[in-house]
Amino acid sequence: MNVPLLDLTEQNRKLRPEIDAALGRVLDSNGFILGSEVKALEDELAAYCGTKYAIGCASGSDALLLALMALDVKAGDEVITTPYSFFATVSAITRLGAVPVFADIDPLTYNLDVTQVADKITERTKAIQPVHLYGQCVDMAGLRDVASQHGIPLVEDAAQAIGAEENGIRAGAMSEIGCFSFYPSKNLGGMGDGGFMTTDDDELAEKLLALRVHGSKERYYHKWVGLNSRLDGFQGAVLRVKLPHLDSWSDKRKANADVYHELFTDAGLSEQVTLPFERENVRHIYNQFVVRVPGRRDELRSFLTDAGIGTDIYYPVPLHLQECFEYVGYKPGDLPESEKAAAETLALPIFPELEAAQQEHVVSKVAQFFDTLA
Ligand SMILES: *Cc1c(COP(=O)(O)O)cnc(C)c1O
Repeated sequence: MNVPLLDLTEQNRKLRPEIDAALGRVLDSNGFILGSEVKALEDELAAYCGTKYAIGCASGSDALLLALMALDVKAGDEVITTPYSFFATVSAITRLGAVPVFADIDPLTYNLDVTQVADKITERTKAIQPVHLYGQCVDMAGLRDVASQHGIPLVEDAAQAIGAEENGIRAGAMSEIGCFSFYPSKNLGGMGDGGFMTTDDDELAEKLLALRVHGSKERYYHKWVGLNSRLDGFQGAVLRVKLPHLDSWSDKRKANADVYHELFTDAGLSEQVTLPFERENVRHIYNQFVVRVPGRRDELRSFLTDAGIGTDIYYPVPLHLQECFEYVGYKPGDLPESEKAAAETLALPIFPELEAAQQEHVVSKVAQFFDTLA
């Protein structure tokens, strides 16, 4: 039995007639850049996230960059963030000449440790950029307290967390600007690159709308130097077909996570394999199901690969130790929990269409791996 890490075939097969029709509508209308499908999608996304605005752009990476630009982050400013995330979280900061200031993660959730964030605030801190990693929200209530005490804006990297909640509030609605990605592996994936930003603030919305079209509100008159970063009509049309299914897909991921918890516990593997920790009062959307395997991660991974089971490592090198960020001045040992997580974590298949028999197979292979060691 083969178990891929992610397989979109079934999802796309079911939606194929609707997707074909939606793509045809765009082709007939010539609405290739932004256009009516994107506008309609933006309204639907704002309603979904519970924000006043949702603004499409070319990718999640661009969403982060545009958000920091809208907040006027400039050379020499400091932005506090996590080193345990995807590269774009930090490249958005450094592209503007700003300095990433890393706080370490909470080893249970892999998300920013709010106490450490508070310790890193200086008079140069221009923004705080938490990441809702794997689909679970950062302690945003705590972080908002810290940020508002100092009057510092928050930018959520919610690329992995569309529909995730803390105390009933959705990701993207807990900060000045939320940033999302439609990369195909996200819970709401497009058929190419895409992303969007959320905000409740009229002025920020106006600025983001301009920044995605070269900083112009009126064509050929430029108030800022923005980007060319627009969502295309084909993505908008496809995403509108998919959005109504998002909650049921995310619920299915959560149900799959519960099945893993039961299977791993029944197999007596909870010592060898640390399962994901869910905070109270959150909705975790399980973009990834990530376990911790101290000391044996890489061996287990190659064992599973040989058995036809797809896995991945998010992320093998924490961002403070990336070669391109050497100049920032961090060294091994500076952020021990992030470094430990990078050495121990392994993502297992969790996509909505995953079948019970496949999950049983994954767990039985993990059990077999540990048996061979005994
Ligand atoms: C996917 C992702 C991004 C970037 O999104 P793209 O659409 O691929 O540019 C940024 N941050 C995190 C945490 C992500 O997972």
